[in-house]
Amino acid sequence: MTITVNGTAWFSNFEIESGKLEKNSEWNFAVFICENINTTIEKDGKTENIKINMSKEDINTIVQDSQRFENTIANLSNNQMSANVNIYEVKDEIKTLSYDEENGYYVSGKDVEELINDVVQKNNFDHIYIVVRFGDVSEKKKIPVTDWIGLGYMDYYGIGFSNIRLPNSTGSYTYKYNPNSNTFPEEVFVHEFLHSLERNLIERDYNIPELHSYRDYNYSNEKLEGLKKWYMDYMQKKIKTSNGYIGLDSDVYSIKPVKESCFEYSTKLDYFSEPKTIFGEIGKLFSKVI
Ligand SMILES: [Zn+2]
Repeated sequence: MTITVNGTAWFSNFEIESGKLEKNSEWNFAVFICENINTTIEKDGKTENIKINMSKEDINTIVQDSQRFENTIANLSNNQMSANVNIYEVKDEIKTLSYDEENGYYVSGKDVEELINDVVQKNNFDHIYIVVRFGDVSEKKKIPVTDWIGLGYMDYYGIGFSNIRLPNSTGSYTYKYNPNSNTFPEEVFVHEFLHSLERNLIERDYNIPELHSYRDYNYSNEKLEGLKKWYMDYMQKKIKTSNGYIGLDSDVYSIKPVKESCFEYSTKLDYFSEPKTIFGEIGKLFSKVI
């Protein structure tokens, strides 16, 4: 607004509201188990209709992993954050998938918006998982992906958003707890969530190691518990380097998405705040809503 007058100009009733960033470290997770896919894909230059349904066993496995995740995230972070997991079984079919060169097919926010939006609107989630199955070895069905079992670093209207993909074979132990083969079956959930934390800090110019850089710091993928040690040191900032310890800054546990509910308790910014502060606040709000 430009006002050209002689004398003094007043602006009255000029208010800027700032959504209050939630400062607690209790994170609210949604796990949407999307049991049915019925979509059209392109494969070898041909269009193919493909229908895949999860088994009861798949669903049980994911429920168990989601429950393990609650304890695991508290332990790995040394109780710097807690996780409350809400599980939803989605019966309606996913009808579209997204595609990119790097990952092949995956589920983006728009592919599931119709299926999840009512629930998302009514709840204050801080992170959303979409769990899918993209193939069935016994029925020779397969939606092409480039080797991923989890995809992260995405968002759903500002809320961290990840895909978890069950294996095409029911016999796989990737997500199943077994004391002799896999004691960390919730690893993919942890990994994808950490990508969201990594993104939150990188967007704020923190200098942190890349989540995938474990080899550079001499961590390895262990037979029974995968990269658990790496995630623990990453979350607790205990990765040892010649310049001291590195990892996620503890600030990250209270940087949660700005949600509508935050506006219920919004505070009016002091009119006389430095413009820099006002822009800082607004910048933060809009950068989250993509
Ligand atoms: Zn990753």
